[in-house]
Amino acid sequence: MLRTTSLKRLFRLREDGEDTKNTLSLRCSVLSHESVAVNAKERATRVLQELQNTFSLPTWVGSPREPFKTLIRTVLSQATADRNTDRAFRRLATRFSITPEALAKADVEEIEEAIRVAGLYRNKSRVIRNLSRMILDQFDGSIAFIHSLPLKEARNRLMSLPGVGAKTADVVLLFYAGKPVIPADTHVKGVSERLGLVFSEGSYEGIREALQSLYLPQDYLAVHLLLISLGRKYCKARKPLCKSCPVNTLCPSIQIGDGLVFS
Ligand code: SF4
Repeated sequence: MLRTTSLKRLFRLREDGEDTKNTLSLRCSVLSHESVAVNAKERATRVLQELQNTFSLPTWVGSPREPFKTLIRTVLSQATADRNTDRAFRRLATRFSITPEALAKADVEEIEEAIRVAGLYRNKSRVIRNLSRMILDQFDGSIAFIHSLPLKEARNRLMSLPGVGAKTADVVLLFYAGKPVIPADTHVKGVSERLGLVFSEGSYEGIREALQSLYLPQDYLAVHLLLISLGRKYCKARKPLCKSCPVNTLCPSIQIGDGLVFS
């Protein structure tokens, strides 16, 4: 079985520009895979090309959508499977208009009832009502500032809302304001780690920045979506389908097979 520590050392050596002899011998002792023969940036580019050849991007990408709805949907998605996130959002939208005005005055128990299929629904109901109130009170009822403010400022402002962490803020900023950021959600993090593009000891910010450093800002949205597609179809958390994976010739984890689980 491939040893993670050796893998990490191998990539560090390569990225630190250490001599080829060291990296070569370590490579031979760890794995004899094509993926290590190129640097992370080149490999990252090739991974993106392969994924672009394999998956198509959703047709709605780039179309204007209401950022407040995205914010609510992203809050619902925390610790919740996609199917249940969709169900919770649909039920909430049937019961309420998804606007800060409507949700700020909604009864918490009624929100709870609507989103019961989502994980942590009690906590999320309060978050949804409280952030709606705060948007009304402090941001004139709108998060349109995500378009006008610079990335860092818009991000900080979003993260000042209750229940909105870096990941949620980054999803809203990337998808609806076109800001140059790659949200490192569970799929993106897990798949990137297996591909040896980032390492697991990194914080959310560390992983996001490491991934961003490998790609051009105009590709961030595609990278995010395609890594998610790869995670859903092939690089599954419990049983990665390495044999049929479109990037298996670029992946140092192929030999780990189904023994590697990401959280
Ligand atoms: S080869 Fe396996 S571990 Fe690597 S990205 Fe593909 S499915 Fe994931």
